[in-house]
Order: sequence, then C-alpha cells, then structure tokens
Amino acid sequence: RTVYLNGDYLPETEARVSVFDRGFLMADGVYEVTSVLDGKLIDFAGHCVRLARSLSELEMKNPHSDAEWLAIHRELVARNGIVDGMVYLQVTRGNPGDRDFAYPGPETEPTVVLFTQSKPGLAENPAAKTGWKVISIPDIRWGRRDIKTVQLLYPSMGKMAAKKAGVDDSWFVEEGVVTEGTSNNAYIVKGNKIITRQLSNDILHGITRAAVLRFAVEAQMEVEERPFTIAEAQGADEAFITSASAFVMPVVEVDGKAVGAGKPGAVVTRLREIYLDEMRKAAV
Ligand code: PLP
Repeated sequence: RTVYLNGDYLPETEARVSVFDRGFLMADGVYEVTSVLDGKLIDFAGHCVRLARSLSELEMKNPHSDAEWLAIHRELVARNGIVDGMVYLQVTRGNPGDRDFAYPGPETEPTVVLFTQSKPGLAENPAAKTGWKVISIPDIRWGRRDIKTVQLLYPSMGKMAAKKAGVDDSWFVEEGVVTEGTSNNAYIVKGNKIITRQLSNDILHGITRAAVLRFAVEAQMEVEERPFTIAEAQGADEAFITSASAFVMPVVEVDGKAVGAGKPGAVVTRLREIYLDEMRKAAV
C-alpha cells in the first residue's frame, strides 16, 4: 500500500514519524475519513470545511488548500486502485523536538498522513439489511466533541463494550439523554418525524448528518433537533445512525429492546437510498 507523508507518496513500510510527534505523545491532532465509491470521493467539500474548523479550533495552520487536499486524495486513491473504501487523513502538530505541554511555535511543521483502506462493496453492506444493535454507556468524553481529534480512547472502549455485549455499537448517554454513537450521530423516527440532537460542543458535527437532514426535508419528512432518551428510542418507530463510512445504518435494538418491528423500517431504508443516490451523483 502507498501512503502519503508530508509531501511524499511512500510504501507504508517506509513511512516514518518521529517519536516526539505531538500526535503520538499527546493526541494533538485532527483527522477526517472520506468514503470512496466507484473511485470517487463522497462529500469531499464537507470534510474540507470541517477539517479547516477543527484545525482552527486547535490553533493549527491548515497545511493545504482544498484543491491541494483533493489532489492528494485522488492521487492516493489512484495509486492504490481504490474502487470502494475510504481515505484517512490526519494532521498532527508535528515534532517540536521535545515534550512540552505548551504548543510549539509556527516553526514546527505539522505532520500530514493519509492512507487508504479498500472495502469492496462498501455501499452494499449486508448489515444495512438487518440493522445494528446498540447498548448505552455513560458519556465521559471531554467537552469539545465538536473537534474531530485523534483522541479516541473512550470511543474505542465504547466499541469494545459493545463487542463484549455481542452488539454493534454503543450510544453515549449524558444527563439522561443520548449524545451520539462511538463514531456516528444518533437518530430516532416517530411517524414522519426524524429526531436528532442539536449541534453544540457536545457532539461531532457529522458531515453525513448535515446531508441526511437536508435530504429528509427535501423528501417532505419533518426534522426536530433535540435530545432524546434511551427509553424514547426504545419506544420509537425506527432508529438509525449516520457516519461517513456507515452512511445511514438502521438501529433495530437498544439495550436489549427491539425498536419498532425490530427490523429496518421504511424511513431509514428510504433515507439510505436517497443518501447513496445523491452522494454518488455529487461525488468527486
Ligand atoms: N460522531 C462521532 C463521535 C464520530 O466520530 C463521527 C465520525 O467519525 C460522527 C459522529 C459522524 O460524522 P461523519 O458523518 O462526518 O462521519
């Protein structure tokens, strides 16, 4: 596999990063994951906007223009012959030469890493036909979840808790209401209405979330942005999650209780279809 590191395209075995890189020592960095379908990037512009915001919130310089980011993504997709899969992008604050809590000055160049993962048939994921089961766990993450940092230890613990419980994911709960999934935004459906938590520093502002809510409104569905409880999810008609890699994924069980009929419902099935159709059309 060819990876990208600071301007070079290298075999993955030859890409080297310093042990003093602040990404490694302090999780001081941000990332994006962009899906590839039929060799094209899904919602690339959305990822560029969020990347710029994450960097700016951490007082890091954006090392590339959107056009340069696009060129790097395309080159890596081409070199690795990716048809369906994803591109992972990470910018860390780099290697200031020594460990220090204070940020280094502008003389320290960020470390830019991109790599690809091939996932043949990504959009035809059979899990979308059966849906995910989730459990709930307390949300004990930090207070700036709107920044897409590489600090992912608690989400990893959440995924492990789900695995041990024999389900697909965990939903985080704070002050009695759901914030989001380990790596996705969470929704419930009541009749024709889609309910999802409003944007704030408490959740990541999902690129897929923004697109799906736009498509829902265009399809004459109602959208209500407010928090919901686990009990409300269990009593809902349908539930689902969204993320750049899972797209729109039905959730059919929450903490051992079936949601609706316990299988993917009409609303989530339709939203997944619309999302994939529209995003394939707009892919670059
Ligand atoms: N929430 C969290 C915590 C995430 O990590 C992610 C994606 O990685 C999302 C939501 C979904 O965001 P997006 O749709 O931009 O992938």
